[in-house]
Amino acid sequence: MIQAQAAAARAARVLSRPTLSAGGSVAVVDAARCTGCLTCVRICPFGVPKMRIDLTGVGEITGAAYIEASICQGCGSCAAECPARAIQLMHYTDVQMTAKVGALLQLPVLQGMGT
Ligand code: SF4
Ligand code: SF4
Repeated sequence: MIQAQAAAARAARVLSRPTLSAGGSVAVVDAARCTGCLTCVRICPFGVPKMRIDLTGVGEITGAAYIEASICQGCGSCAAECPARAIQLMHYTDVQMTAKVGALLQLPVLQGMGT
């Protein structure tokens, strides 16, 4: 009984909030690059990506993938597997990761030390 009451209290604390904040590391689809291949839809372990017919994909095709940020768990699987590179994981975008790896390896070109 006590455990059930504690669980209910925790749930009520979340549900009573007017808004919920999601983590910043969520996947975002660039619909203009999406080919509609459904890879992200199939691979997401949480079933988050959906195809939306009201979006326009690459080459003006009807429909593109959409990821609802509030339920994305930020695992990055879809971003890694998208063959069109239409998905970026916020805070871990290709540009950011390249810069981080470059800094780690101390590549001169990324440090403004020449070519
Ligand atoms: S994997 Fe990429 S190209 Fe394929 S449906 Fe998802 S976002 Fe579109
Ligand atoms: S980042 Fe992970 S949880 Fe979010 S949509 Fe992609 S595969 Fe699903």
